[in-house]
Formats: sequence, structure tokens, C-alpha cells
Amino acid sequence: MTITDTDASADLDGPFPRAEVENLTRDEAAARSAHLSVQTCDVDVDLSAAAAEGATTYPVTTRISFRSSAPGGETFLDYLGASVEEVVLNGAALPVAEHVGAARIRLPELAEENLVEIRSTSRFSRSGEGLHRFVDPADGQVYLYTQYEPADSRRVFPVFEQPDLKAVFRITITGPETWELRSNGAETSREQVPGAAAGLEGVGLVRVRFAETRRLSSYITALLAGPYRRVDGLWSGGVEGEEPLEVPLAVLCRSALAEHLDAEELLDLTRRGLDFFHAEFAFTYPWGKYDQVFVPEYNLGAMENPGLVTFTEAYVFDTAATDAQRETRANTLMHEMAHMWFGDLVTMRWWDDLWLKESFADYMGSLAVDEATDWTTSWISFANGRKAWAYVQDQLPTTHPIVADITDLEAADQNFDGITYAKGASVLKQLAAFVGREAFREAARRYFSRHAFGNASLNDFLSVLGEVSGRDMTSWAEAWLQTAGVPVLAASVDDAGRVVVDESGTDPATGGPISRPHVVEVGVHVLDETTGTLRRTCSVPTTLDGRTVVTELELPAPGVPRLLLANDEDLTYAKLSLDAESVAAVLVHPVQDPLARATVWAALWSMVRDGELSASRFLEAVMTLGLQIEEVVVVQALLRQSVRALELYTPVEQRETLEERFAGRLAEFISEEAGGDRQRAAARTLATLSRRTSAQLELLAALLDGEAASLGISGLDLDEEIRWAFLQALTVHGRVQREVLDAELAARTTARGRIAHRLALAARPQAEVKRAAFAQAIAGTDEHGAELSNDHLTATVVGFRCGPSTLVADHDEDYFAALQDVWTRMSQGQATRVVSGLYPGVQDLAAGQSPEEHPAARRTAEWLRAHDDAPAALRRILIEEQDGLLRGLRAQQAARS
Ligand SMILES: [Zn+2]
Repeated sequence: MTITDTDASADLDGPFPRAEVENLTRDEAAARSAHLSVQTCDVDVDLSAAAAEGATTYPVTTRISFRSSAPGGETFLDYLGASVEEVVLNGAALPVAEHVGAARIRLPELAEENLVEIRSTSRFSRSGEGLHRFVDPADGQVYLYTQYEPADSRRVFPVFEQPDLKAVFRITITGPETWELRSNGAETSREQVPGAAAGLEGVGLVRVRFAETRRLSSYITALLAGPYRRVDGLWSGGVEGEEPLEVPLAVLCRSALAEHLDAEELLDLTRRGLDFFHAEFAFTYPWGKYDQVFVPEYNLGAMENPGLVTFTEAYVFDTAATDAQRETRANTLMHEMAHMWFGDLVTMRWWDDLWLKESFADYMGSLAVDEATDWTTSWISFANGRKAWAYVQDQLPTTHPIVADITDLEAADQNFDGITYAKGASVLKQLAAFVGREAFREAARRYFSRHAFGNASLNDFLSVLGEVSGRDMTSWAEAWLQTAGVPVLAASVDDAGRVVVDESGTDPATGGPISRPHVVEVGVHVLDETTGTLRRTCSVPTTLDGRTVVTELELPAPGVPRLLLANDEDLTYAKLSLDAESVAAVLVHPVQDPLARATVWAALWSMVRDGELSASRFLEAVMTLGLQIEEVVVVQALLRQSVRALELYTPVEQRETLEERFAGRLAEFISEEAGGDRQRAAARTLATLSRRTSAQLELLAALLDGEAASLGISGLDLDEEIRWAFLQALTVHGRVQREVLDAELAARTTARGRIAHRLALAARPQAEVKRAAFAQAIAGTDEHGAELSNDHLTATVVGFRCGPSTLVADHDEDYFAALQDVWTRMSQGQATRVVSGLYPGVQDLAAGQSPEEHPAARRTAEWLRAHDDAPAALRRILIEEQDGLLRGLRAQQAARS
């Protein structure tokens, strides 16, 4: 079969158009909430025909009661629907013609108490924004779910779309009686209604009403509909000294994945999380039930809709998952649960303070995995993964303070980034060290009890923090939250033989030096002859203030390998500049303490990115020491970084040899390991690397042919994921033809298989294939003109970029020419995939060439100069891509000198 026969994207008439007026500004929002308050919002969604083949729209009825303190004035509702049939404000019908195709419904001549009723028609989404509709290729069943943050509830119903206009929501869904129909609140009534479900033979219809919510922002309301499979559970517990509570739990996923849903583990984690957060926050879970749903074609990891949390179904492990993947999932689960308080109960007033929920949820997620589950590597994952993300982002020219200046929704959309999440969380970890864990906990408790069901801003948090710590936190907040950039900590030994720590770094926004208060542990790790590892011999808690002498540290005799670590325990947020003696030691000897080890590897990776450590020395260390590390999460990160080091930071004349050596070492490692997570991680990496080097293709082909035993390889599960990864690599080199890919898909037609198949097709090394893939990506449609879902769009983009950049260099000019059109035509999520994914960012620096002279860098600079007035969010992507390209070229240059 071909991949488009049952393609649900044929159902839609086109991507959501974007108009200027969609972009609500902070000032408009503030003006609106200055005189409005919303009481209730009744939303009736009719999904009777959602299962019908080719369904594109659905009827919605909305009823909003609100007060205005400026009667006689006017306001507007946000709505990005297909059509508006009727608007009745305070009993009088308003003309509807002007609302069609617009993003706003104008409400003139307000009374003090207002009631507006709207009948309208909304569109199903294929981009994951709004009410997404997915047709499962495995069984043809239709699944729906919503995703709204930051501002897509207006794609489903007319609404005051801003976080500080909270309302009580009363939601009903009419839909097929055999489906799961769910929303934030629990089901309270269900009545049979006349008629039959379109597209479902002999299935009647029901109208389901859900419990009215407590006061909520619209971006966290949610709907779910479809033949999802459900496993129920229960949690009981509560806040000490208060009435105990029972919370019904459920986990759901689509039928085709149900056999892989490990509901018991998920329910167990959920119960542990609820125990933990009740003890931590001392505020009873206020949202009734707790559903967790794994949904298809999801754009993000998860979303904290109260009572109905949505997750990417990549978290339903239908192929072998490593323990590190399970830990990541647990972390996401806890992150979303923390949001039930941070974000859902107390919400930021506007997107400037997005960090008030995301940084906290990120920090609390890691804390909960550490303290409430059996995983012991939470802070190691944090040091190695989350922080690496923050350091990368915080060195980009587009970085910003944690408390950002977000003037409108487009800017808000771009702000779900490594600063808001990972840097914010890292700074909160430092804050907990700075004021003490108890004070931090008490601050959170006061914040919830004071602002429950309302909105808050930075000052509200600082004031509770000031109360509990007894300190004025203003200067701390200025230094950490209101300035940008990564501090650099360098520990070294001065001429007098004392250990000193220097802080440096530049705020990219002001160009000024960075100076921040740090509470750290400074540690010394010395080679232990018996174990052959660098073992911590002493560590001293230190408050850093400019250049700081750490007096109590004892150093080993000269010549004995040792590591000086300025951020032992990883308490603060800083890049580490290791002194030469430390670098020499850690490239040869393993560090014994797991957290210190992860911190050191993060520092080494920073040095590679900065051109201070060559990719080849880093790779040598990964091959000898890195692969042996016990924590799979660290091994996975090192393997990813190694591939990046090869493609971006290695000069072309060294690359081939190094790629072959690295691929050879992975192949060896796969046979040494005989099963387990590290073997699987190595196999995945070998597949990715083999898109670039042909050194181990014979091995991949032989494994696909079932010859593992004769190759001396055991324990490697050649499941759907690994098979496709190997096939994709072979395809890039022209070793696999289309028939083989089609046959693989026909043997197992799953959503995963279809995405992998599309990637492989676009990865074939022929010019006409690349031309077609490029055109599809730019148009956002498949070969039949049907809109690509986000996953399929990404697969097309990634497949196009597979193979040598010379094969696709002809399209670079078309790429730059198409940028503005793509940005205008596609939704922001889709456009970001295309603009970022097709960017020619992997390039070789010719000998004697300067990085800025490279044609791709020059062309980007030219585009940016000529498009000063392009949307800021589009420029931001180009500036970041350009920075990544230049960083790579500079590292290549440094490796030659
Ligand atoms: Zn979050």
C-alpha cells in the first residue's frame, strides 16, 4: 500500500490561515482585563459527525456571562472558527457577517452584567493546535483531543483568550455513545440523544455533561473524544490534618497501543506524586479526578490540563525503552502534576511570567522523581540534560532574562524554551540552596494559599520568599531572573598554591559583565590508585563573591592527577571552565561520583562547543570512558553529542576517519554488551551515524537479515523502531529501494511506521527525490496535495536533510526565498519545523576560509539585513540557526589551528 491511501490529512481543506489580528498584544489583554471579569463559560461541542469520513468542522454553542466595570463601552471575544452563525448579546442579535474569517467577535455597548451567546462552527485541526483529529492507520478509527497553550482554545470556541480572565467552565460534549468523552471535570450526566453517529455503523449518540470547573484560564481547558482504551485507578490521601480525599485516576491511549500501555507503573507514579505534592504544598488537589491520556501526533511532551493531562504517545513504549526513557516519562508526569498547583491553581497574569509555572514545574518534577520514586539519577539527568539545554540557549544572541518581556502572543509562542524551563529550574535549584529547602517549601505554600484560583506575578512570589527567608530578595531576583547569560566559574590554583574561583561571563543583552550570588560546593577529586578513579577527597560549601579564595581545600601532591570542581553537587547554574590539569585528568580517568561525573561531562561538551576542546579528543574520551558510564541517561547524552561533534565541530579532513572509528567502536560495543539499555542506545546511535558514514552498513544489513547470532551479537531487540532506523540509514546510501520500504510498512502499518517510511522516502539520495521532498515541506502538503500532519512534516524535513549537504545545496536559495511565505501561510508550529529543519546549518569550513565568509553564513546575514521587518519570531529562528552554524564553523577552524 502507499502511505496516503488512508491519510487523514486529506480531510482538511488547508492549514489555519494566520492574520495580523490573531496576534493579541499584552496591552490589549491588559486593557480588556482592566474592566472585565468573567463568571461562567458554557461550551457545548457537538462531535456527532467527527467520525465521518472527511469530517472537517463541528458545531459549537458558547454562552459566557461576564461583568464590565465600564458599561457602555465595548470589548471583543477571540475566535478562530470556520464561521459564526449567531451572536446574541444581552438578548439582542448582533450582525454576524463581520465575524466570518476574523479572529475577533466585537461586543459593543456592554451592560454591567452581560450574557453573550454564540452559535458557530469550528474546524478540526491537523497541526495539533485546537481540537486535533487523527485517523489511526492501524484500524481507521478516529481520535480527538485538544491542545490550547498559549492561545488555541479560540480555535474551538469563542473566548476571552488570556490567562488572567479566569472563568468557571461548564462543558458538554455530544458524541458517539461508544466513545470515551472526557473533559477537565468528571462526567456528571449522560443522556441519549436522537440520531446516529456519522461514520459509525449502528452507533447512537450521547450528550455528556462534565462537572463545572473551579476558576480556570481557558488555555488549560480540554476535551477528549474517541475510542480510547482506559485503565482506572484510585488515589486516597491528602494534606496532613485535613479531611482525607479520594481522587479517581485513569490512564488512556488509543486502542492500537493499548497492549503496550503499562498502566500499573503510571498509576503507581501518579499515586506517589500525589502523596509527594500534598506533603510538599499542603494544599489539597482541587480538580476532582486525574486523567492522563497519551495522544497521537502531539506537538509537545505533555500539557497540564487540570484533571485531564495529555502526553505524547511516544511515552507508550511499543518498542524497547531504556530505563532512562522511563525516568524521563516519570519526570514529565511529575512536571505536569506540579502544574496542578504551579500554573493551574495560581496562574501567571501574562506570558512574561511563564517561568512562574514552567521553571517551578521543571524543578519540582526533578525533585519529585528524586524523592518520591525509586530512580536515583534524577539530578544526574538534570545536570546532564536539562542544564545542557539551558546553557546552549543562554549563549544564543536571542537569549533573554528568565522573566521575559513578552509583548504579544507570537512572542509567547517562541518562549517555551530552554531559558523558561531549564535555566529557570536550575536557578530555582540554586534558590533552594540559597534560602534553604524549608524556606523554599514554605514560600510555595504561602503563594498557593494566598493566590489560589487567581493570578500572580514575579512580585507576588518575591514577597512570600522575602517573608519566609527574612531577606530582601530584590537584588537576588535582579541578578538571576532579570538579566540574561551564563556565568562562567573557573576554579584554579593561584601562585600561592590556594584554590580560587573566578566568576566571569557577559550578559548578551547589555554586554555588561555577569555578577551573581552563588552558593556552591567546591570539591577536589584525586586519583585513587586502587580503583583507578578520581575520588572526592574534600569539598567545601562556599558563597562566591567576585574572586573567591577557598581556604579549607586540600590539594594532592604536584603531579598526582586531580580534578578541581567549582560546582560540585551541581547546586548552581554556571558553565565551568576546568583548569588544564583537571581536563587532562578527566579525559583519562573516570570520575567516581555520579553527579560530579555528569557535571564534568557537561563541562567538556561546553568546551567542545566553544572550540576549546577538539571534537576528536572528546570522541576519544567518549569511546574509552563515556560508553562505560553506568547511568544510561548520561551515555545517551554523550552519544547524541558525539554525533553532533562529528557533523558540526569536526574539520572535513578529519571527519571520515573519525566517523569510521566511532562507528567501529559502536559496533564493537553492541557485541560486547549482549543486551541492555546501553547496547540499545549504541544501536540507535550507530543508525543515526550511519546516515553519514557507510562504514558499518554491512553490519546493519546483516542484522536486518536476522544474522545477529552469526555476528556474535545477542540481546538486541530488532523491533519496529530499530528496524526502521537501520533501513533509513541504508536508504540514505542507496542500499535500500522503495519496494523494501513499502514492504516493511505493509508488514506493520502503524502510525510510527508511516512516519518512518515517509522519512526514508525523503532520504533517498536522488536529486528528483530531494526536489519533491523540498517542495512538499515548503508547501506543507504530501504528494497528493493533502496537508501533512506535524509528524509527517518533520519526517519530510529530516529525510530531506539526510545525506551530504552537496546533494541538496541547490535548494538553499529557494529556502531563503520561501521563508516569509512559509511563515505567513502555516501555523507557527508548522512554520517553525520547516524554517528550522530546512536551514542549511551543517556545513564544512574550507581551509583558509573564515566562518563568516562561508556562503550559508553570508546568505543568512544577507537575509537578516534585508528582512529587518520580518516577524520577530521568524527572525529569532534565523538568528539562532545562524549562530549554531557559525559556532560549528568556528570550532572546525579552532581544531585546525
Ligand atoms: Zn510545563
